[in-house]
Amino acid sequence: MNDRDHRLLRVEGMTCEGCARHVTEALKSVPGVEQAQVGSWRSGLATVVANTAVTDPPLLAASQKAGYHGVVIERRGLEPTRVIPRSKGGGYDLMTIGGGSAAFAAAIKAAELGARVAIVEKGTIGGTCVNIGCVPSKTLIKAAELCYHSAYPQFEGLTACPPPSNWQRVVQQKDDLVAALRQGKYVDVAAVYPTISILKGDATLLGGRQVRVNGTVYEPEKIVVATGSSPWAPPIPGLEEAGFLTSEQALSLEALPASMIIIGGGSIGLELAQLFTRFGVKVMVLESGPHVARAEEPEIGQALVRYLEEEKVRICTNVTIRQVERQDGGYLVHTQTDGKPEVCRAERLLVATGRRPSTSGIGLVDAGVVLRAQGEIVVNDHLQTSSPDIYAAGDCIGDPMYVYVAAYGGGLAAENALSGVGKVFDLTALPHVTFTDPQIASVGLTEQQAKAQGLRIRTAVLPLQHVPRALASRNTKGLIKLVAEEETGRLVGAHVLAAEAGEVIQEATLAIRFGLTVQDLADTFHPYLTMVEGLKLAALTFKKDVSKLSCCAG
Ligand SMILES: Cc1cc2nc3c(=O)[nH]c(=O)nc-3n(C[C@H](O)[C@H](O)[C@H](O)COP(=O)(O)OP(=O)(O)OC[C@H]3O[C@@H](n4cnc5c(N)ncnc54)[C@H](O)[C@@H]3O)c2cc1C
Repeated sequence: MNDRDHRLLRVEGMTCEGCARHVTEALKSVPGVEQAQVGSWRSGLATVVANTAVTDPPLLAASQKAGYHGVVIERRGLEPTRVIPRSKGGGYDLMTIGGGSAAFAAAIKAAELGARVAIVEKGTIGGTCVNIGCVPSKTLIKAAELCYHSAYPQFEGLTACPPPSNWQRVVQQKDDLVAALRQGKYVDVAAVYPTISILKGDATLLGGRQVRVNGTVYEPEKIVVATGSSPWAPPIPGLEEAGFLTSEQALSLEALPASMIIIGGGSIGLELAQLFTRFGVKVMVLESGPHVARAEEPEIGQALVRYLEEEKVRICTNVTIRQVERQDGGYLVHTQTDGKPEVCRAERLLVATGRRPSTSGIGLVDAGVVLRAQGEIVVNDHLQTSSPDIYAAGDCIGDPMYVYVAAYGGGLAAENALSGVGKVFDLTALPHVTFTDPQIASVGLTEQQAKAQGLRIRTAVLPLQHVPRALASRNTKGLIKLVAEEETGRLVGAHVLAAEAGEVIQEATLAIRFGLTVQDLADTFHPYLTMVEGLKLAALTFKKDVSKLSCCAG
């Protein structure tokens, strides 16, 4: 008999994340409630896991007392808590297909719950982030940044240092870092948990819960699919035959080319364009859309283009690529922009047009798992697929493809799979960073998205010339844009283009998550001569002309 159940409530009256927090707290205060969660106030839904002895009226009374009207719209029984399903015959309670960040988070959570776990990995343990993604790209970007700033010091009187030429040595250091982090953060961590095993091999689902690895068929109680994603290239005539670099290959080039064409002006394309330019490569970016960094606020995209062009990156937008061909060891890319044809030449060609879930050929459909058009695994709010014992997390469920989303999803999928706790996958206030210099960091809604949602909003844009930290560093490249709800002043979006914007965005993330207003930001102490003080100044610009403020925004 089940001792707990999962209830779904429709809650009326929530207008911000603060309301979501009040409802959550009110529901949690009811005796017998184990968990309560509001995925997002916009959903108007709350989930509760409670002892079956808890009736609905105390839950509804608690939300009413907090000022919100609730109705229970669904109730279903759960497996008994903390009793992990033991696999028959001493097999695995949980198997992850894939051994990247989502899989590791799933395995660790499962082991902490007392489960026996197998991680199946066909390639290099650790997956994309540590081996070929975040870690290698960010360490090379930092090297390029130091190289650039020493060659072009912002302070007059400092002697410019020549750009370093030893690319191979820098790549070697990157490989050493990758190897150390793979060992320290994946292999050694797995070894700490005696109930986690790593199986090296290619996993195929055979139907039901059966998984074949190296000829052996396993039948784990639950499965978390965490197979990640792979680079995707558009169907351009001649591209496949000509061959091209992916981001992974570009980060390990043995020698730097003289020139490079990058197809794709998204975050990875722009990060790599600046990286290679700063190492002395002549780079051209070809973007099919009207803007690069198109997910960002237009002010930010336009300013970044200016800075990149100052560094001699050539950026072309609205480009249609007609054909790609090899010639004399290099590449010819036939383009058309606003009806005007051009033939672009470069020694190397890099395609950075996004990634697609790696979900084909592993038996998902045979196992009853439904996929979307681009291969994304369809999951519900609990990351359960259409096959009840199979969950999925990470890049294989589609956008947003970030490692922190993969890790969060992996842990949540494992917990839901093993204990039936019904936690909701909640991406409210999800920040993201593009690691160009200056960096772009954003959280919440852009002005256009807020308007599209019917919100009445006000915006404030603060150029970094008004931020003391930027002045003192002699680097005023960038701006801060805040989007706030007109009536309440609640912050709904923050967009920062600045050196180390990724550090600044975290304050805005908390502000959005907890329903704070721009006045709350303006009223909070911010240490003088920090970049995050820019958020306070941007908040002040809703009411004051910031150019007339004294030091410390007095
Ligand atoms: C160049 C680059 C830079 C990036 N920078 C950042 C960044 O700065 N910040 C950030 O948050 N994110 C970044 N990302 C994205 C981030 O790396 C991914 O979102 C994250 O690594 C995805 O984790 P995952 O566990 O879903 O998949 P992965 O880490 O890709 O793991 C999937 C694993 O499954 C294995 N596998 C697949 N099929 C099978 C099978 N049938 N059997 C066994 N094993 C299988 C694969 O070999 C792979 O190792 C970057 C990505 C790239 C490419």
